[in-house]
Amino acid sequence: MANEGLDLFADGFSFLEAPRWHEGQLWAADMFAGHVVAFAADSAAKAVMTVPEVLAGFGWMPDGRLLAVTRSGRLLRQEATAVVELPSLLSGGTAPCNEMTIDGQGRAYIGLFGLAGGGLARVDPDDSARVVATDMLLPNGQALSADGFGDPVPGRAARVRERFSDLTGAHATVLDQVTDDARVQFSPADQAWVDLPVRGRVVLIGDAWHAATPSMAQGGSMAAEDALVLVQELAAGPDIDQALARYASRRRQRTAHVQETTAMRNGLAALPLEDRVGLVPRWAELSVASFAALVPVP
Ligand SMILES: Cc1cc2nc3c(=O)[nH]c(=O)nc-3n(C[C@H](O)[C@H](O)[C@H](O)COP(=O)(O)OP(=O)(O)OC[C@H]3O[C@@H](n4cnc5c(N)ncnc54)[C@H](O)[C@@H]3O)c2cc1C
Repeated sequence: MANEGLDLFADGFSFLEAPRWHEGQLWAADMFAGHVVAFAADSAAKAVMTVPEVLAGFGWMPDGRLLAVTRSGRLLRQEATAVVELPSLLSGGTAPCNEMTIDGQGRAYIGLFGLAGGGLARVDPDDSARVVATDMLLPNGQALSADGFGDPVPGRAARVRERFSDLTGAHATVLDQVTDDARVQFSPADQAWVDLPVRGRVVLIGDAWHAATPSMAQGGSMAAEDALVLVQELAAGPDIDQALARYASRRRQRTAHVQETTAMRNGLAALPLEDRVGLVPRWAELSVASFAALVPVP
């Protein structure tokens, strides 16, 4: 087939995959060379990150840090000099890692491909990892849905100031001080999620950390569990900072799970009745499986 209408933009690479647009530039994974490559408008390519083996996927954390995963499941962050190994859940498994997509909460979704053991893994900002979907052959071409928490961090402060620019008086004075993108939290009105619930000696528990709509009826329980775990960790001591870090780490998976399942239930409820009816048996099955995944129990 003739390449009619197609121009060669750049060449000389091993195998370019996962092309994406980010901050005005085209990026791609040069897989077998192990490079995350950024292209200038004139097609000049720059290897922004190099990994020590076959590169699988890459993406950006909400704060702009570049994250890459190799085919064998090793994670690299741009600012770190060391390679961060994934927990055994992923590394050493039969399914190689592939494409990566990171959501607005910094959760990296990584495709696992293979005739056996294919699926989708998720690595959270605290480096905990788990398989979140199975029975998939090759989950490539991932994309976040429009209702995901996709507001990019860069430019958030300016967007908030612009959105409320008609406010005057004390409000305007406060708005003028909103200049740090990283400190502007974004989430749908019925959800709240703060990625780091501990800053110094300030600790968030309950809805202040992870509010969700009541459809799963777990918010009060989660708030009470937070309080319990916080007290347990503080009592275990000896160092307060370490105790608070343990609190955040122990609570992250369970509270995130409630938020995600709540969002899934809400999505289901929004479907037309005829579609909902067909999904109920599957939903019951998923619900049982998802409650079983609510570990570790405090
Ligand atoms: C309709 C509905 C049904 C629900 N059903 C269930 C259920 O069946 N099971 C379940 O587990 N959960 C349920 N939830 C969720 C549950 O109510 C919340 O998750 C839980 O109350 C959160 O507790 P919290 O202590 O974190 O926050 P809150 O209960 O919101 O407590 C925060 C408190 O801080 C106060 N406050 C706020 N700002 C200030 C300030 N500046 N100074 C001083 N005080 C302040 C507020 O007045 C409030 O009393 C439901 C929620 C709703 C809305």
